[in-house]
Parts: sequence; structure tokens; C-alpha cells
Amino acid sequence: MIEIDGSQGEGGGQILRSSLTLSLVTGKPVRLTNIRAGRDKPGLMRQHLTAVRAAAEVGRAELQGDEVGSQGLTFVPKQVEPGRYAFAVGTAGSGTLVLQTVLPALIDAAGPSEITLEGGTHNPWAPPYDFLAQAYFPLVRQMGVGLTAALERHGFYPAGGGRFSVGVVPPVGGLKGLTLTTRGEVLHRSFTAVVANLARDIAQRELDAAAQRLNWPDDCFHVYEANDSLGPGNIVMIELHCEHARELFTGFGRQGARAERVASEAVDQAHAYLAADVPVGPYLADQLILPLSIAAWRHGAASRFRTLRLTRHSTTHIEIVQRFLDVAVRVEEEGGVVEVAIG
Ligand code: AMP
Repeated sequence: MIEIDGSQGEGGGQILRSSLTLSLVTGKPVRLTNIRAGRDKPGLMRQHLTAVRAAAEVGRAELQGDEVGSQGLTFVPKQVEPGRYAFAVGTAGSGTLVLQTVLPALIDAAGPSEITLEGGTHNPWAPPYDFLAQAYFPLVRQMGVGLTAALERHGFYPAGGGRFSVGVVPPVGGLKGLTLTTRGEVLHRSFTAVVANLARDIAQRELDAAAQRLNWPDDCFHVYEANDSLGPGNIVMIELHCEHARELFTGFGRQGARAERVASEAVDQAHAYLAADVPVGPYLADQLILPLSIAAWRHGAASRFRTLRLTRHSTTHIEIVQRFLDVAVRVEEEGGVVEVAIG
């Protein structure tokens, strides 16, 4: 039984989710204590509980402590079973984070899977669906996985109610590693302001603010009205498609933040990324560590990527991986650029 103190490192939902994933993949039981101990509402929230139950379903696991507010959890998996799954968060909690809990196990399972997720699809503090589709999934495909994805309905905080589905076909010869050391030329770039049940003018102001700072041609800027959404919502997204890399940076509309500020938050991230000349941005770095470590551990497939200075989420991910897997993760930093080598 592996014991994990959930308050260590970044101390949030990620330690919980990654421990579940690694327990699924290795078959090693895990006991978590102090789950989200330092957070405003400590313990398991709805979204975390959905991730716990999703992992238990996929791994036919026995559970103890799976209640809202619980700070202790025991998870004893049997075997990862590919198949057809539907997980609903029931609030605006992030469906993308629930998916990321089970996906690294299902991409390496004994057969294909179909997963449908309901809940938030475009939440602050979580990967928006478009980030998965544009940045994360293409890399999972490069690892050899057959992956399809469709957004059926946008779900913004606080109303939620979004829905998307993902199809997974694991590679025949095992997961491949990735070498992501250069970015190459920028081939395509776009700024999209999405509004759902809100005035189009908000999106227009975001476009104007971004256009002033980005200096791109007019046809790079778009407004999208997400009329399928149950509640109101606003997000801006900067997509950068380079020769050897794809990234997506976001700003989330919220009460009290002016449209101009929301646009600038995404522009700041895109500028930092472009200035550093690395292929992998900070969020993608943290989310790649898990699947790449699994590929190294199970298939001996080594990986290397260059990114910006590691976030607390990334360093915590590396620590958790090393509690479960006998895999070397080396980090070298020079002038704000970091190279991570796994396996
Ligand atoms: P936690 O805060 O522990 O629940 O983890 C949040 C996860 O969401 C981390 O893996 C982050 O990389 C990811 N994340 C948060 N915001 C974004 C964003 N704007 N784009 C992509 N991923 C994000």
C-alpha cells in the first residue's frame, strides 16, 4: 500500500487524481491522507469524487472514504478494463480533469474505449476542452494512440451541463515516447473570443484589446457564440500551431474582470511562450509528465521535452510519479528554459 500525504507539494486535486491514475496503471493500492487539506473547502469536492468513482469503475477498485468532504481515501484496484464509460460530475466541476484521471490508464489498456463526460468543459483552473483537443490530444496521438474527440455542448462555470466524448484505441506495439525539443516556425495562429448567453460586445472588446497587443492580421481574430451552452460564459483562446508543437493559451471571463484584462491574460502567456522559443508551455508540461512516465516505465520508451520554468504542479507530478514508478526523471534548467528527460 502506497501512502500519499495529499497536502504535500502543490497540495490540490492533482495529487489525488495522479495517485489514482498511477495506482490504476501499476495495480498498487494507495492510501491518501490530508486530501486538499490546505484548501478553502478541504477534502473531496464533487469533481474529485467523480474522478475517484471514475477511476474505481475503470479499475474495478475497492474504495473507502469516497464521500464529499472526506480527507482520507483508500483505493485498491483490480484490473483496468477498457470499455464504454459515462461519467457525470453533476455540477460545473471539470469533466476534462475527470477524463485526465482515467485516460493514461485507458490509452495503455487491453482494448478500445469510449468515454462520455458531463460537467464543465471550459472551467477556470482546469484544461478547457479546446486545450485538450488542440494541444494535449495531438501529443497523445504521437505516442501511437488512436484518439477521437467531440465536444457536444459547452459547459461553463457556474451552470456546467457540458458534454464531450472521447474514443481511445491503444497502440499495438505499446506507447511511444516523445522528443519535443524544438518548436519550428509558427504556421497558424488565431485568437478566438467565445461568449455564451452574453453580449457579443464583450467578445468584440476582447478582440480589440488583443489585436492592439498582438499585431496580427485581421483574419486571425474570431468571435464564436456558443449558443449550445446552458448558462453564461466567456473564454478567450490563443491557438499557436507550429511546425513541431501546438499550444493553446486561455483567459477566463469572470465577474469583476474587465474584458480587456481577460484578453491580456491570454496574450501574456502567449508572449512568454513565444519569447522562450520552447515547444511545450507550462500547463502542457505538467500534463505530459504522467503519460510519458507511464510509457517509459511500461514500454522502456524514453522522452525529452523543453519547456518554461516548471510550475509547482509539474514538480509535484514528478514527485508523485517517483513514488509509484521506477523511472528516472531528470530536470536541467538554463536561463529560464528547462529540459525534462524521462526514462
Ligand atoms: P489542480 O489545481 O490540482 O486541480 O490541477 C489543475 C490542472 O489543470 C493542472 O494539471 C493544470 O495544468 C490544468 N490547467 C489549469 N488551468 C489550465 C489552462 N488554462 N490551460 C490548460 N490547463 C490548465
